[in-house]
Amino acid sequence: MTAQIIDGKAIAAAVRAEVRDAVAAWVADGGTQPGLATVLVGDDPASAVYVGGKQKASAEVGIAGFDHRLPHDAPHDEVERLIGELNTDPRVSGILLQLPTPPQVDGPALTELIDPAKDVDGLTPISAGLLAKGRPGLRPCTPSGVLELLRRHDVALEGAEAVVVGRSDLVGKPIAQMLLARNATVTMCHSRTRDLPAVCRRADVLVAAVGRARMVQGDWIKPGATVIDVGINRTEDGLVGDVDFEAAAERAARITPVPRGVGPMTIAMLLRNTLAAARASAATPA
Ligand code: NAP
Repeated sequence: MTAQIIDGKAIAAAVRAEVRDAVAAWVADGGTQPGLATVLVGDDPASAVYVGGKQKASAEVGIAGFDHRLPHDAPHDEVERLIGELNTDPRVSGILLQLPTPPQVDGPALTELIDPAKDVDGLTPISAGLLAKGRPGLRPCTPSGVLELLRRHDVALEGAEAVVVGRSDLVGKPIAQMLLARNATVTMCHSRTRDLPAVCRRADVLVAAVGRARMVQGDWIKPGATVIDVGINRTEDGLVGDVDFEAAAERAARITPVPRGVGPMTIAMLLRNTLAAARASAATPA
């Protein structure tokens, strides 16, 4: 293997330590303690683990936790009322509605009701619009994590050919816009892209966010490229990414593994967003 491994676990730990120090300094300076409210409807075990992880990570960096759990038959209106209350609660800097929600609760519609100033997941239409227009705002966590990995490894983006495979609102689209904001020349690919291998071979920076185990082959990688694998796929061999890691690592200059690559960055960037939201709300007159 020739590629340098981009160690997302170590970088996420560094970001979390920085957020912890920044929260302590902010509170010592008289700032209001940042607070993260999570809303979980129902008892889906995977969602409960995610929410628990987010609350635990918040507590570790000094962010106050408001852990709201509603029964699986909670009516839509009740969740809507709760989000309304959290929107006006000054102790809450960030709100996160865990998706998916049970069928009677329209999760995507409720996400849109979150005050954009508290949208620490960066998924409301306002946040997406601010990103599309290149204006300041809260950015989605996994895409921010990808950009942070590139930044910490000094990957040159200005004028670079960046190819993003996947165009979801959650991952591919915001990553492409963030790379564009760093002056990369960005190509977005999807399931109808013609000759995907040839497009990928142009990439100085290749981001795979598809959800298909080891789809990106070694000979799709331009020698010396930086490869970021967002994919998380459960297979008989365990967790694998969207990139054939062993083969790609023979050609790439840098590559993220799965696990311990992009995955750990998501919660780290959520914590950073929550602190940023607390600071911004302090700067905004009520
Ligand atoms: P998604 O909403 O299912 O989107 C997948 C994208 O891949 C779509 O744009 C789709 O194209 C494209 N695609 C599907 N098959 C393709 C093919 N054969 N060739 C080229 N493009 C193809 O998935 P997502 O939410 O973006 O997630 C992508 C992956 O990232 C998943 O494995 C997910 O588990 C992982 N993920 C990881 C994290 C993390 O923290 N590390 C966070 C979120 C997601 P069309 O638009 O044409 O259908």
